[in-house]
Amino acid sequence: MHRSLSGTHKSPTETTPGDVAKLLRGAGLRPTRQRVALAHLLFASGDRHVTAETLHEEALARKVPVSLATVYNTLHQFTEAELLREVAVEGAKTYFDTNTSNHYHFFCEHSGRLLDIATGAISIQGLPEAPEGMTISRVDVLVRLVEKPDR
Ligand SMILES: [Zn+2]
Repeated sequence: MHRSLSGTHKSPTETTPGDVAKLLRGAGLRPTRQRVALAHLLFASGDRHVTAETLHEEALARKVPVSLATVYNTLHQFTEAELLREVAVEGAKTYFDTNTSNHYHFFCEHSGRLLDIATGAISIQGLPEAPEGMTISRVDVLVRLVEKPDR
């Protein structure tokens, strides 16, 4: 489900803390000041991919006083509430995606950026059957990018 505010008709500048508080309440989360501030950074300007570190830097730049640990915990709470989707790229790094719909990603190994791949641009064929008693919940595809070497 895609529950970010980007699907509404409002432009990003019109997203108010009240809208964000409503989004949090709708997801069963108490809209504390820190959650509202972080949710505003996350959901007020279209689909985004962030790490705890990049969101923490952004919060500090906007004078939102939060610790990295709080950012990390909040991102996980938002993920559990299905406001975010976790995208695991490599052992040390977890990205959080405000677009919770099922989609795939390009990963730029140089910049560490994730880019969405349009839904329908990849079709998966020949998946094995899930083992007895199991069912496939989703398939993740991460297409890694490097710059073309100079010729
Ligand atoms: Zn994405």
